[in-house]
Amino acid sequence: MKNDCIFCAIAAGEIPSFKVCEDDLVLAYLDINPFSEGHTLVIPKNHYTGLLDTPADVLKEIILRVQKVAAHLKAALPCDGFNVLQNNGAAAGQTVPHVHFHIVPRYGAGGGEIAFANHEGKMDALAALAERIRM
Ligand code: 5GP
Ligand code: ZN
Repeated sequence: MKNDCIFCAIAAGEIPSFKVCEDDLVLAYLDINPFSEGHTLVIPKNHYTGLLDTPADVLKEIILRVQKVAAHLKAALPCDGFNVLQNNGAAAGQTVPHVHFHIVPRYGAGGGEIAFANHEGKMDALAALAERIRM
């Protein structure tokens, strides 16, 4: 547990939360400022900052819980779809530096993407970039 981490305090039960499910490794609870009804956060109980420092075995367990909770929300709520979001770093909008996945139920047709404005790509620039970053 990391001092001054809100999500560690929630995982430890020191700060209350509206739990959706819990086991030894993972906790899912309602986001306090929901984007939509049923907006749920899935976190590991241990502290990791983001995607890159979360061990692979933990990450596998988390994503399986995300799938399980999303399936449950889809069955339990009258939603028509859902987004799964995971922010890394302040530049990407991460406000709580304890790795978490958002499950955001979506209602009705064509709710649109969540703050995701695309820009038309230039083929030569895309080709050069792919060349530069190819793994
Ligand atoms: P981020 O922007 O870091 O991806 O998302 C952090 C999320 O945590 C936000 O959607 C915010 O509403 C939620 N949040 C922040 N503090 C608390 C809290 O104390 N309890 C709960 N349940 N959610 C929180
Ligand atoms: Zn933490």
